[in-house]
Amino acid sequence: MQIITSVSEMMSLAGRLRAEGGRIGLVPTMGALHEGHLSLVKIAKDRGSLVVVSIFVNPTQFGPSEDFTKYPRPLEADLAACQAAGVDYVFTPSPEEIYPKGYSTFVLEEHIAKPLEGASRPAHFRGVTTVVAKLFNIVRPHFSVFGQKDAQQVAVIGKMVVDLNFDVEIVVAPTLREADGLAMSSRNRYLTHTQRVEALVISRALRKAAEMVAAGERRVDRLIAEATHLIGQQRRVRIIYVSIVDRLTMEAVKGEITPGKSVMAIAAWVDEVRLIDNEIL
Ligand code: AMP
Repeated sequence: MQIITSVSEMMSLAGRLRAEGGRIGLVPTMGALHEGHLSLVKIAKDRGSLVVVSIFVNPTQFGPSEDFTKYPRPLEADLAACQAAGVDYVFTPSPEEIYPKGYSTFVLEEHIAKPLEGASRPAHFRGVTTVVAKLFNIVRPHFSVFGQKDAQQVAVIGKMVVDLNFDVEIVVAPTLREADGLAMSSRNRYLTHTQRVEALVISRALRKAAEMVAAGERRVDRLIAEATHLIGQQRRVRIIYVSIVDRLTMEAVKGEITPGKSVMAIAAWVDEVRLIDNEIL
């Protein structure tokens, strides 16, 4: 496994691999890797391609009062996990390498990025689309794997790829969960035992909604009311949003859902830890 920190080195390597006929699969991450990330690596490997994992805590996708500085950066453990997972190349640039002094160009998706995460984290997707566009240009992947855990990110990146004519296939991986249902997340390591127990209500609310749909419920108001009611029972959990949206456009579904096409998306504070999760209904 080769570790690359410079943009120019990564670009010449990508050019060489492509010239030799290699297929490149990119898994973009912010590190603090868990089984969810590694499931994305496995999907990339199973496609028989060379796998590049990027590890970059992207400053432009964090708001001024968010956890950029305290975001976990266990690089040694991450590299060991990548090595064990059979990753070929880890690209882990510094912020100055990606955003040199005077950097001033950003990529903005102006529709899908607006609600949900975009409403509560205004500059978030501008940072995401910018860094992913740069990663696509630097790593030149044939395909890139993203987790359904970040449903809106998947929709925004999918749109960016179409709108900006990136020749990159977007592969979407299912959300990996702990045995008790909690969606795996790098931010879970911020949770105390008590907070973690209360955080379980988020996945429980999503499961309940899925069960209601399986039992024939279609009404958005009833599904949201039940999820909201469940979450409201936990003292430490404060809802940021509970929404049912179209899985491609992220527009709120009105009236009734169409099974398979709608997503219930939840964001909540568990004390000071912000978690998101979603379920396709
Ligand atoms: P992050 O490091 O949080 O930026 O995540 C990197 C990639 O891993 C994103 O495409 C996420 O959607 C994906 N990911 C994060 N958590 C999970 C999970 N529990 N299951 C599957 N994919 C995940």
